[in-house]
Amino acid sequence: STEAPAAASALYKGVENVVIIGSGPAGYTAAIYAARANLKPLVFEGYQVGGVPGGQLMTTTEVENFPGFPEGITGPDLMDRMRRQAERWGAELYQEDVEFVDVKNRPFTIRSSEREVKCYSVIIATGATAKRLRLPREDEFWSRGISACAICDGASPLFKGQILAVVGGGDTATEEAIYLTKYARHVHLLVRKDQLRASKAMQDRVFNNPNITVHFNTEAADVVSNSKGQMSGILLKRVDTGEETILDVRGLFYGIGHTPNSQLVEGQVKLDPSGYIWVKEGTANTSVEGVFAAGDVQDHEWRQAITAAGSGCVAALSVERYLVVND
Ligand code: FAD
Repeated sequence: STEAPAAASALYKGVENVVIIGSGPAGYTAAIYAARANLKPLVFEGYQVGGVPGGQLMTTTEVENFPGFPEGITGPDLMDRMRRQAERWGAELYQEDVEFVDVKNRPFTIRSSEREVKCYSVIIATGATAKRLRLPREDEFWSRGISACAICDGASPLFKGQILAVVGGGDTATEEAIYLTKYARHVHLLVRKDQLRASKAMQDRVFNNPNITVHFNTEAADVVSNSKGQMSGILLKRVDTGEETILDVRGLFYGIGHTPNSQLVEGQVKLDPSGYIWVKEGTANTSVEGVFAAGDVQDHEWRQAITAAGSGCVAALSVERYLVVND
């Protein structure tokens, strides 16, 4: 519906209905829904990912699993479409990072380098950042051989039928390794320690899979390329002996975790032990009334564009309901 709840649109002079922080799929989807509900959302898009708005998908090429694009779509194109859709419905977009948030006092205060805004509700959609190894040639091969998402990239032509490596020893890395065996010829799991941290069940699945070889006490030290500039292998280093060898692989997947961008509200809303914003199960409600969270910043499990977008929708509809109820 394009009808605004009268209470929400008319009442709050000088104080915004809702501020959305973040411009990934969660932030823009929340902006589309909030704008269509006539809440006149303000969006702080930020530019922390590669210096541009749009979030993590700005760093990838093809997105093959976002519904509605049967031929696939590039990450930047998808995000540009979401941005334009939010703008079309009247969301006000600021390409600024939020530097300070106060949700302890009402109305809430949001401050960027350029402005300070008071608001009745906030949607935090600041995403998460995949941890990187910082290999010397990492930037050169990011999205061209190095990936942080097996579900996103495992089936791509770059990796299908190839020998691949996964770095990490926890649940993420073991899940990625098992997932990749669906498409890869063989998967090497590179583990720094002399044992896996993953659950016993995941360990059993790894050790029982003939298509996975586990290398303990081993770290990836750099990418090796062929004469065409493609990834042809990785330089391995034994942690215990320092011995270096080259492992022939065409892809390297990072399974070493993510850092949720929740610092802005640390100490003000409840976080889980890993730093993700805690939300009541099945909702976008944080521990503070009027503060909602969406996307990867509150999701340590699925971390997909479509799940982020879905939770952005839930957050915006929750704001709409919250403002009407609190009128
Ligand atoms: P993000 O996309 O992380 O966006 C967060 C936003 O918040 C950014 O715009 C950032 O600038 C902003 N921000 C952060 N801090 C502040 C601040 N202080 N002030 C203002 N703004 C701030 N998923 C898929 O479904 N399919 C794929 O094919 C796929 N491929 C991927 C490829 C790569 C290389 C990566 C890294 C991820 C991929 N993903 C894919 C995962 C997907 O990108 C994420 O799940 C999704 O982007 C999460 O959306 P989000 O809106 O929660 O956050």
